Amino acid sequence: MDFSFSEEQVLLHENARKFMRSVKVQAWIEEAYQTKEFPHAFMREAAAQGYLGMSTNPKYGGSGLNFLDALLVFGEIARESCALALCVLVQNTLFNFAVETFGREDQKQKYLPRAIKGEFFGCVANTEPGVGSDAKNIKLKAERRGDKWILNGTKCFITSASVAGAAVVSARTARRQSGKPGTTAFLIDIGSDVPGYYLDRVEEKIGQHGAPLCQVTLMDYEATEKNILGKLHGGWPVFNRTFQHSRCAIGIQGVGLAQHAFNEMAVYTKGRVVFGESIFKQSMPEIAEMHCEIQAARVLAYTAADFETRSHPQSAEAASLAKLAGAEAALKSTLLFFQKCGAMSYILHSLSSRLLFDALAIPIYEGASEIQRLIIARRILQKSGG
Ligand SMILES: Cc1cc2nc3c(=O)[nH]c(=O)nc-3n(C[C@H](O)[C@H](O)[C@H](O)COP(=O)(O)OP(=O)(O)OC[C@H]3O[C@@H](n4cnc5c(N)ncnc54)[C@H](O)[C@@H]3O)c2cc1C
Repeated sequence: MDFSFSEEQVLLHENARKFMRSVKVQAWIEEAYQTKEFPHAFMREAAAQGYLGMSTNPKYGGSGLNFLDALLVFGEIARESCALALCVLVQNTLFNFAVETFGREDQKQKYLPRAIKGEFFGCVANTEPGVGSDAKNIKLKAERRGDKWILNGTKCFITSASVAGAAVVSARTARRQSGKPGTTAFLIDIGSDVPGYYLDRVEEKIGQHGAPLCQVTLMDYEATEKNILGKLHGGWPVFNRTFQHSRCAIGIQGVGLAQHAFNEMAVYTKGRVVFGESIFKQSMPEIAEMHCEIQAARVLAYTAADFETRSHPQSAEAASLAKLAGAEAALKSTLLFFQKCGAMSYILHSLSSRLLFDALAIPIYEGASEIQRLIIARRILQKSGG
């Protein structure tokens, strides 16, 4: 694997960094934190930069970049704002990816061009009250009545649902049997004017402000065969494949946040003197280890993206490694920053507390760290003939 970047990749990376550090984007980051509102202005501008359809086919208005190129941009967005990165990732690596990979041509034409222009947002809904990690066990029901599918049930902790015009929703269409989850993915319109769709609430969160987390209910929602994404009873492959793709990006989101906290920690500890010496100098081994973990997580994310692009047989394992390493690096690095700032961290709205609260979600979403460890360990067993 060669990660010496081409001139185009270096330019893409530098442009993303410049964009994210521009005065207007920094103002939008602060606004999202203060108001907790979805960053519409930022998303419009991100769309203009081509950041909402990074790997989507140019036929639908996407940039058609390989996934590693996309990760270079996602990492820079996350380095400035984990929350804004989540909004961008839900659009790119969850919604657009699921629709482009599993959709019929009419579904792609209907949603992708507008999603990429930032005129419209999508979300992906699997989690339910009582069903998270055991993702195949969902209860939201789709029943066939004549030529209709009637959907009933609740999805919770869904990012961007409050601003979305469409959702990829998992629904139970058959009983779960061994090896057959019995679920189907439906691609449906949502919004306040859509009959049978209800936005129950937008949660109050402790971090990642600006990326709305929502509970929604479908009550006698009328869908048809045309709303099925992929195959009838083929919902699990849609969600499993989409989450695998997205995990590489969440890995780099973690790396971006970890790097942000690390850089801030380095600046602060170099300037703060205790017992006649800077905290940096007194914490050198700890700081070197943290740097090492962030760099390792970055390489794992790039490797996972490269494997994804090449449909490598080990891409599922690589995605889990990237997600686990990125999440853990984010957690450790933000905690290190928090600890090294001492009591100043404990003041409300301190940067170190903001970054730590952002980090706490990453080992939970897109499959908790424990689930990634299970996936990785199972692969090791398989490979060793266990
Ligand atoms: C900010 C945020 C955004 C989200 N966005 C979305 C979204 O857009 N769409 C969506 O569908 N969902 C979304 N989620 C939900 C997320 O995917 C779930 O929270 C996640 O799958 C974990 O499910 P759970 O919270 O129900 O935890 P549970 O499944 O109840 O697990 C709780 C904890 O138990 C432990 N655990 C679970 N299983 C095991 C095991 N087998 N072995 C050992 N330990 C275990 C883990 O520590 C885990 O964190 C989001 C969540 C957050 C916090």
